[in-house]
Amino acid sequence: MKVPLLNLKVQYEAIKDEIDQAVAEVFVSQQFINGPQVVELEKAVAEYSGCAHGVGVSSGSDALLIALMAEDIGPGDEVITTPYTFFATAGAIARVGAKPVFVDIDPDTFNINPNLIEQAVTERTRAIIPVHLFGQMADMDPIMDLVHSLNQKPKTKNQKPTIVIEDAAQAIGAEYKGRRAGSIGDYGTFSFFPSKNLGGAGDGGLVVCQDAERAERLKILRNHGSMPKYFHKFIGGNFRLDTLQAAVVLAKLKYLDAWTVARQEHARVYRESGLSENRIMLPKECMDRHIYNQFVIRCQDRDGLKRHLADKDIGTEVYYPLPLHLQECFAYLGYSQGAFPQAELAAQESLALPIDPLLSAAMLEYVVFTINQKPTIKNQQPE
Ligand SMILES: *Cc1c(COP(=O)(O)O)cnc(C)c1O
Repeated sequence: MKVPLLNLKVQYEAIKDEIDQAVAEVFVSQQFINGPQVVELEKAVAEYSGCAHGVGVSSGSDALLIALMAEDIGPGDEVITTPYTFFATAGAIARVGAKPVFVDIDPDTFNINPNLIEQAVTERTRAIIPVHLFGQMADMDPIMDLVHSLNQKPKTKNQKPTIVIEDAAQAIGAEYKGRRAGSIGDYGTFSFFPSKNLGGAGDGGLVVCQDAERAERLKILRNHGSMPKYFHKFIGGNFRLDTLQAAVVLAKLKYLDAWTVARQEHARVYRESGLSENRIMLPKECMDRHIYNQFVIRCQDRDGLKRHLADKDIGTEVYYPLPLHLQECFAYLGYSQGAFPQAELAAQESLALPIDPLLSAAMLEYVVFTINQKPTIKNQQPE
């Protein structure tokens, strides 16, 4: 048997007629830029996420970038985030000329540890970007409380308030104390990269926010800062979401909840399969609604396990093998090995198992069987 990490071909076959029709409609209209599907998707995702406004953009990376641009964050500013995330989170900070400041993760959730944020705050801190990694939200209450208290303090001249951008690229529909990913911070950013829970047919993304003025500014910025046409208020860029992508994502949105339930069901199967007895640490569910963009286990002999599964045709992936503070391009920030021990350990031990909603019961059983077959998985250190 072969078990792929992602099963997108099967997904397409299951809903081919609807996708093909959505694409055909865009071709008939020839409105490839700013077509009605873009507006429709913006409304639908905003509503799905408990937000007042949605602004479609060209990718999840550009969603982060444009949110930072909308707040005029740039040289001289610092932005706090996690070193254990996809590159784009910190890449966007550096792209606007600001300085990424990393804070270690909570090993239970792989998300930024809110207790360590305050000591990283300086008077230059303009934003915090918590990432809801693998589909589980970061612990938002202490983060919002901290930002609130920072913004209460008297400011030095020209000092602007600190904001929160939720990187929800992996967490559309995830919940924290009844609130959805993207709805708690000042901005939330989503990605429609094909491997995300709601993936398009290429690149795409969306920014949500509760504030009408912010939404308006994002719309101007994604279109070269032009308002009205050919009169440029800001220096923006071309960060538009293609109508074709919006049409495909819109067609898939109505399946998202069913797919999420299937992912959660797969997670339950893994949990009840006796995997943890085989000296693997299963992901902890600490927040309300984990949407399992990835099912990430920890194992001391991670590389050995990955090889063993690859030999048996089971797809896995390491998210992420090198934390961002140790990336060559961030050497100028001056972090060294050991700076963030939990992120570094996670990078050595984590392995994503197949959790695609359309995997069969037999496939999951085969994954469990194959993992349990490997006798040499070493035990975790007691915590
Ligand atoms: C995928 C992802 C992004 C970037 O999204 P793209 O659409 O690929 O640009 C940003 N942050 C996180 C955490 C992601 O997983």
